[in-house]
This record gives sequence, C-alpha cells and structure tokens, in this order.
Amino acid sequence: MQENLPKMPPQAKCTRCRARAAVSLPSHNSRFCTACFLHFFRTAVTRGLKKAGPEKDTPLMVAVSGGKDSLTAWAVLDDLGFETRGLHLNLGVEGYADASRQAVADFAKSRGLPWAEYSLKQEFGYSLPEIYDILHYKICAVCGKLKRHFLNRLTARQGYSCLATGHNLDDEASRLLGNLVGDRQEFVKRQYFYLPSPHPEIPARFKPLYRLEIKEIREYCRMQDIRPVQGGCPYATGATSHYYREALEHLEEKMPGTKRGLLFNYLRKPKELGFSGGFTPCRICGQPCPAETCPVCALKKRVQDMAARRSAHAQNCNPEQPESTHTD
Ligand code: SF4
Ligand code: ZN
Repeated sequence: MQENLPKMPPQAKCTRCRARAAVSLPSHNSRFCTACFLHFFRTAVTRGLKKAGPEKDTPLMVAVSGGKDSLTAWAVLDDLGFETRGLHLNLGVEGYADASRQAVADFAKSRGLPWAEYSLKQEFGYSLPEIYDILHYKICAVCGKLKRHFLNRLTARQGYSCLATGHNLDDEASRLLGNLVGDRQEFVKRQYFYLPSPHPEIPARFKPLYRLEIKEIREYCRMQDIRPVQGGCPYATGATSHYYREALEHLEEKMPGTKRGLLFNYLRKPKELGFSGGFTPCRICGQPCPAETCPVCALKKRVQDMAARRSAHAQNCNPEQPESTHTD
C-alpha cells in the first residue's frame, strides 16, 4: 500500500498556478505547489461546511488523540477561524498514552490553544488494557463505543454543543463498506459527516476531514510542521476495518477515485439521518439514551460480571491450603 503521495519530477507544474509542483493527487488528476496544496486542503473542508456543519460562530470541541488526523482537524479548524478547544481522553495504554498526551500538549502549546484531558480509568472505572485483560476480544469495537459516548458526555459537560473529530475519507469509506457488507443500516444512517444534536445533552458531531485522504493529511502535517504521536496503538492489529481499508486501497490503485466515489455517492442520497426514536435517562447514570440502560453502563456491567466470574474461577482452581492440623 502506498503510504505517501507520489514524488514529483522536477519539471512538473502546479495545475492551479503553474509554479513547480510539490505533490501529485492522482484521484483529483492534479498536481500542486505547496501554497496551492494548502489552499486545496482548506477548500475541501470549507466545501464540506457549505453543505452542512456548525455555524462559523459555534465554539467547537475537537476530539484529539494525538494522531495526525485529529491534530490536523484541530489545525485546519483553527486556521479557518473557529473558536476551538481540544478534548483528550487518556485510554491508559502504557507508553502510547503518554506519547499521545505529549503530542496533544506540544501542538496546543505551539498554537496557544486550550485543551482538556480526561482519563478513561477515572470516567469508566477501567483503563483500556484492564478492559482488554477481562474481555479479551473485539477491543477496537469496545474502545470505539467508549470513546464515542465519553467524548459526547465530556463535550456536553464542558458546555459545548458541537464535537469535531478527525475521521478522514479512508476511515469513512472503509467503515461504509463494512456497514454495507454487514447490512448495519442503523450505523449507515449515522455516517453522515454532520449529525445535528439529537438531544440537549448530546452534542452535534462534525467530521471536517471527511473529503480528505490519509495521504493528503500526512502531507498537510509535513507542510505545517504538525508532529503527531509516532507509532500506533498496540491494539490496532485486530480491527476488521483494516481489511476493508486494504480492499479499497487495492481498488484505488487500479481505479483512482474509487473511495471518493463510494463515499460521496452514499452522501448524495437523501436519507433520514442520525438516531431514530426518543431518549430516556439511563436508569444507572442518568445519561439520555434510547434504551433503559445506556451502552456505557451495560458494558460496565458486562466487564464487572466477567471480572467477578474470573476471580471466582481463579479461587476455585487455587483454593487456599486448609489450615494445618499438625500438632507437636
Ligand atoms: Fe481504540 Fe482500537 Fe483505536 Fe486502539 S486501535 S485506540 S483500541 S479503536
Ligand atoms: Zn448509563
């Protein structure tokens, strides 16, 4: 799989201004110099905003993991003049969590932007590695669910009404393909790049980078000297989304524009967006949810039950030695 944009021959010219080109974008059939690439990049975000998105004067919370996508989303929203605040959820993954936090802190400092940090352990009672040790499987699905719910809650807790995330075109196209293959219509409906708030305690969600590919984001980071955390989450290897992403990447190499076509054709179709049905307060935590118990409380109960079963099993396998009846 090609990781970066193709290198330019020295005589190549920018499609927009005819200066020397710095990058080639085969899926747009274009080449750009540095200045025109930055213009192209920001225009892709404003084009999305013209279709749907927060008003220019809406203060935005930006979910920042410390990776290239979320830092770039934060950078470009800041460049476009939005009032922003970073929101970092520390998952407690040894080594990776500290490096991610540092990348967020360095970026925020370099631009003088405010940010808030929360820990999954404090909010949920378990860190991600602790959850993995207990459940042992599908950790990315569990992690995705927790991040989605806690980032919503924390955004509302900070008094913001809209949360921006770093999802890019590759994420969205591969997720769409997975949802279509699995006929998960509820998720397909929620994949639009802007979902208005369905309840006063649930923020609107916005994906400013949904029109931009990973390679383009990587190039933007390089040109803007954005320094994301290096390496990846150690749990990333088991995610099924990788298979869909690889399949689309293969098609893209043969037919540039495939990913874009898949996603944008879906987005063009009229559809009922977001959540269907009403909300009631979760009977455990009070958070608005479509069922009696919210997904976070249901998951916590499952983790607690599994942990209790495991500890009972361990006790049965290693019963304490009976007290000695030996007498001298
Ligand atoms: Fe969570 Fe999986 Fe992403 Fe790691 S790779 S942060 S476990 S979703
Ligand atoms: Zn709950």
